[in-house]
Amino acid sequence: MAGAERPSAIGQALLAISDQWTLLILQRSFLLHVRRFADWRDELGMSESVLANRLKELVAGELLRPVPYREQGRTRTEYLLTERAVELWPMLVEIWSWERRWVPRRQGLPELTHDVCGNRTDVELGCASCGRAPVAARDTESVRGAATFAQVTVPRHHRRTVRGEGDPLSYLPETFELLGDRWSTVILAAAFLGIRRFADFQAELGVAPSVLSNRLRLFTELGVLAVEEPGTRPRYRLTDKGMDFFGVFAFIVDWAQTWYTGPPDTDLRVTHRACGQPFRPCLRCRSCGQALSRTEVHFVIPKRVTASTPS
Ligand SMILES: [Zn+2]
Ligand SMILES: [Zn+2]
Repeated sequence: MAGAERPSAIGQALLAISDQWTLLILQRSFLLHVRRFADWRDELGMSESVLANRLKELVAGELLRPVPYREQGRTRTEYLLTERAVELWPMLVEIWSWERRWVPRRQGLPELTHDVCGNRTDVELGCASCGRAPVAARDTESVRGAATFAQVTVPRHHRRTVRGEGDPLSYLPETFELLGDRWSTVILAAAFLGIRRFADFQAELGVAPSVLSNRLRLFTELGVLAVEEPGTRPRYRLTDKGMDFFGVFAFIVDWAQTWYTGPPDTDLRVTHRACGQPFRPCLRCRSCGQALSRTEVHFVIPKRVTASTPS
C-alpha cells in the first residue's frame, strides 16, 4: 500500500471535477450565475437526489460555498463559487473554444465578447511566464513524477449521458468523452505524455484492459486518436484534434497543482521550450492579442431550443 494513501494533485483535481454533472453545474454557475438548488434542477433537468449529492461534494471539495439567505420567512441555502472554483474559468473557456474549432453542431455556441476591444472573438493559448502566444502541445515539454497517475481513478460515479444537443450551453458528448470521467482524462493525459502502446498505457495507469480498449476505441472514433501500425501491437497517436485539446489539459494541470498537494514525486512539470520556464497557461484574445481576464469578457448566449428532442 506504499504511496496509496493520497493521489497526486492531478488525481485529486480529477476526483473533484471530472464528472459530467459537476462540470455542468459549475458551467451554469459561471455562465448564468446559477446559485440555487431549484435553478440548477430546472436548468439541467437533473434529479434532485443527484443534484443534492453533487452539491454536497462540491461543498466538501471547496468548490462551492453555501451561504444562507431568507426567502418567505424561511432560511435557505445558495451556493457561490469559491476562489478555487473561479480559477477553473479559463479551462471552461478553453473547452468552449475547442468545441467551437472541432465539433460541428446544429445549434450555435455562445459567442465570446472581449469588452476591452469590443470584438466577438476566440481565444488562443499563451504562456503567462513569457507572454508568447500561441503555445501548442509541441511547444512544451512534460516530465512526470514516478507516481503521477497512481490512485487517480477510484471509480465514483457511473457514466451517464447528459441531455442533448438543442441547447447551446450543453457540452457535446465529445468533451464528456474526454473529460467526463477520470479514466478518459488520464488516458488522454498519458497520450499527451507520449504514451503510445496499449501495454504502456496499462503499465502506466494500472487500467483494466477492457476499460482501456473501450476508451481507445472511443477516442479513435472521435478522431482524437489515430491508430498507427495497426495489427497486434498498434500505436495510438494524437491527431491534430486531440493535440489541440492540450489547452484544456494544460489548464487542468496548472489548476490542480496550484490548489492540491500530492505526495512527493507525483507532480507533472510542464515547461515552455521557448522560454525554458514552467508553462503557466493563459488565454489571449485572438482579435486584439491581449491577455483575457474573467471580468473583461462575457458570453452572448443564443436563443435556446428548450424542448430537447430525443434523437
Ligand atoms: Zn514561455
Ligand atoms: Zn480583444
